[in-house]
Amino acid sequence: MRVTLYGAAGGVTGSAYLIETTTARLLVDFGLFQGADEAQHREAMPRDLDPRRLDAVLLTHAHLDHVGRLPLLAKAGFHGPIYGTQATIQLADLVLRDSAKIQRQDAEYENKHRQRRGQPPIEPPYDDEDVTHIIQQCQTVGYDHPVPVARGLTARFVDAGHMLGSSSIDVVITENGRHKRAIFSGDVGSRDAPILRDPVPLQEGDLVFLESTYGDRDHRPIDQTIAEFRTIVGDAVARRGLILAPAFAIGRAQTLLYLLAVMFRRDELPKFPVYLDSPMALAANRIYLEHPELIDAEARRFLNDAPLSEDTETMHMVESVAESRALNDMRGPAMIIASSGMATGGRIVHHLKHHVWQPDVSVLITGFQAQGTPGRQLVDGADHLTLMGDRVPVRASVHTLNGFSAHAGQTDLVRWFAPLADDRPRLALTHGEQAAREALAAVIAAQYGIQAALPDYGARFDM
Ligand SMILES: [Zn+2]
Repeated sequence: MRVTLYGAAGGVTGSAYLIETTTARLLVDFGLFQGADEAQHREAMPRDLDPRRLDAVLLTHAHLDHVGRLPLLAKAGFHGPIYGTQATIQLADLVLRDSAKIQRQDAEYENKHRQRRGQPPIEPPYDDEDVTHIIQQCQTVGYDHPVPVARGLTARFVDAGHMLGSSSIDVVITENGRHKRAIFSGDVGSRDAPILRDPVPLQEGDLVFLESTYGDRDHRPIDQTIAEFRTIVGDAVARRGLILAPAFAIGRAQTLLYLLAVMFRRDELPKFPVYLDSPMALAANRIYLEHPELIDAEARRFLNDAPLSEDTETMHMVESVAESRALNDMRGPAMIIASSGMATGGRIVHHLKHHVWQPDVSVLITGFQAQGTPGRQLVDGADHLTLMGDRVPVRASVHTLNGFSAHAGQTDLVRWFAPLADDRPRLALTHGEQAAREALAAVIAAQYGIQAALPDYGARFDM
């Protein structure tokens, strides 16, 4: 058995592992490179990976950096099954169609320049039809039961608590009558995160791939973060202010709505108008509501105790562009939740442009903000932003909440690994910047005496 890494090795995007045995070849995730990683990996399809010879793909979860290269497989002749939980497949459909749309827009933009320079037009890497093909190849798996996925391989998916439907995967490989276990953590969620269940640890493994996004730090406790959220929103509402909340359409938007609904029901906040202005978040809401079996006991109790309709009567789901535009003249008290989460595109950019120059407006940042994004500039205290070509002064107050991470911090990553440590497996730390995984490796070495590998792109693990 051999595992080769084709992404998220020394970076956090482009997750992809190839498992090869004497009887089968399969991928675990095939994610897109984003941001700084993208520039380094211009060739999306690894040269020594022949999609026609693949038997299957396993998906840990639906984030673009784990599923974003899948349509390229279908285009290159892969017709086999793709296994994931039902929520993962539904959300991947959403995420990939959005990605196809952005790629088409990028290509159109680039082609205008190319036309002027007399160059031939370029095609986007994949389109909506390619996404349709790949989604048709998906097969639903449930949690906790081993399923045969290729000759000599079974896979068991367990809840990773990172996003709806997210999984860690336990792969049992049988070669020449002997069994080996390869464990793929996927992205591990924070314990006690609202809505989602806690990550399920695995007990046995010979080879373990563990994510390390926050391997060097712990997050602020979630209870404190929720209390801060309540205070910031409560103060703004008391001042009749407008709150702008850039949020990732899948995950963070639902968390914010859920917390507001809970606070409304408990009279911790007065009911005030809340606008969810993101078609993708609306589609994600519907998928969340279809899966009450995937949410944690606390959220389920909340849904069962009383009708949600009363808690959400001041929440408005904004579908059309015209409705979104009508929010330009919005006065407080009100909150607009819109994506993209880092304000690099989407409807939040319009709302910032129309409101961020007003001193009575609050901007509430609840997600990770990468270097160079407007969201990061706000966090760093910029006195103006350039939005859609316009220079807009920042007079709004900016509040940053750091405790809502979808990723486990260092302590919880170590806790996730603890039951596996008894088997003294080979451990590789992936999906993390170098400093983060070095810090995590040091803690694991000190606690368990296990030296973790810090593999680079193309690294191979033979068992
Ligand atoms: Zn993820």
